[in-house]
Amino acid sequence: MAYGDLVSRVNFDMGRNSPFSYACHACNRCCRNKAIRVSPYEILRLARYLGISTTQFIENHTEAGGTVLQTKENGDCGFLGERGCSVHPDRPLACRIYPLARWVSPDGEESFGLSDAASQHRRALWYFGDGAGLSRSPATWAIL
Ligand code: SF4
Repeated sequence: MAYGDLVSRVNFDMGRNSPFSYACHACNRCCRNKAIRVSPYEILRLARYLGISTTQFIENHTEAGGTVLQTKENGDCGFLGERGCSVHPDRPLACRIYPLARWVSPDGEESFGLSDAASQHRRALWYFGDGAGLSRSPATWAIL
């Protein structure tokens, strides 16, 4: 799946203070069939966590010219193990903010949307501002 295809299916209609509630059930759906983008800073952190050089990390754990985490043949993230994420302390921002996706326009304007996979499980996991679940916003869900 091309990363652009995924982004085009997200409606980026939330700001940092838009309310939502969400509960993680550790199903690991967020680690399957995704294109997890990584910045140079995230590559540095992940390489350090694994005790390898950034060159080794890019060669062995990324695709698309070092911009996306490598996936397994079944679509799982290369770092998804039997006990969940094997690089959890230094996982990329895209993983930290799930079920949100973040977009920054060319002029620097930031917005958030419900990620594609979460949309498919919206009834079970996601409630917009109904006051029934935990009160969150993009600004409080992850330190951005
Ligand atoms: S880096 Fe970790 S949290 Fe992110 S998709 Fe891969 S296994 Fe999941």
